[in-house]
Amino acid sequence: MVLVPLEFAHSRVHWGEWVMLLVMVFSIGMGVTAGYHRLFSHRAYQASWPVRFVLLCLAAASFQNSVLQWSSSHRIHHRHVDQDDDPYNATRGFWYAHWIWVMEAGATPIQGVADLEKDPLLRWQHRNHFLIGAVVSLIPAVVGLIQHNLVGYLIIAVLLRIVVTHHTTFFINSAAHFFGTRPYTDANSARDNAFLAPFTYGEGYHNYHHMWQWDYRNGVKWWQFDPTKWLIFTMAVVGLARGLRRVPDAAIRRARFAMEEKTLLAKLARSSRRAEALDQRIMAARASLDQALARVQEQAEAWEARKTEWKAQKREAWKARKAEWKAGMAQHRSEVRVALAEWKAARMEARKAVAYA
Ligand SMILES: [Zn+2]
Ligand SMILES: [Zn+2]
Repeated sequence: MVLVPLEFAHSRVHWGEWVMLLVMVFSIGMGVTAGYHRLFSHRAYQASWPVRFVLLCLAAASFQNSVLQWSSSHRIHHRHVDQDDDPYNATRGFWYAHWIWVMEAGATPIQGVADLEKDPLLRWQHRNHFLIGAVVSLIPAVVGLIQHNLVGYLIIAVLLRIVVTHHTTFFINSAAHFFGTRPYTDANSARDNAFLAPFTYGEGYHNYHHMWQWDYRNGVKWWQFDPTKWLIFTMAVVGLARGLRRVPDAAIRRARFAMEEKTLLAKLARSSRRAEALDQRIMAARASLDQALARVQEQAEAWEARKTEWKAQKREAWKARKAEWKAGMAQHRSEVRVALAEWKAARMEARKAVAYA
């Protein structure tokens, strides 16, 4: 870090080294999020071997250990989040979750990654990750040599890059467990934080991620900044990735409404305008909305599970099945609209009661 201001003092600013820094930070960061995290740790999609190879090489340059070690720790983090066994336990404080755990971690035994150990490419990366990481990290030095600016590129696009990469990834373990909202679950400390998303390649939507870790998206809404999700989607469009896993929309909405109900009831309980009848209205409205959404979810899941079987039937039978399914879905959706209107009215009444308490 001392070298960065020295580089400033001794030479004028060369844009090339800063552009290179950004390119390296972004590609290596995406190697960790699209590769180590979503592809290997959570199996949120499948990728062809050239994609796996590139992601493994890029992620090695993050110097966060091999894919097997990383995925092993990360799966433990999800299984034991906020507990003693969680390698980056946020309840031990911000700096512990951000950085200190790395120094304490040492060589923790690799466990729970038998599925990954079967892939020869991953075993190769495990054996050689440091060498691979060094080769990838030194790419800017080659550019620097060509540009007759080796020292500048080494300081900015190699050394500073390693520091930046470390901190952006560590933010997910620290800040994303401390600052932000919990729209889907309050069973753990993970938060959704739009401000963190650009610095973490889309992993700022961490509350969603802890709820449904196997979804290839973290920012689930189309407008939420999640370049990792866009990369995976684009790879699927051009045939480099497949089997992208998504949580049905109805399931996401059910979780969100359940959290809204919980928050409202807690606020009402603290307010002087609390009335038993209002509590009852809120609970009844949310329960019927949940049931209506559950029927939509069931219908959507039935389609996913049986569409191949239905498509294999004769044309007439397939058409009839499809029409029947569509009619069922339309019916369930109209039930959702009715239940949603009552939920919104009940929610408004409760919000007013809290506001004027
Ligand atoms: Zn987490
Ligand atoms: Zn995860």
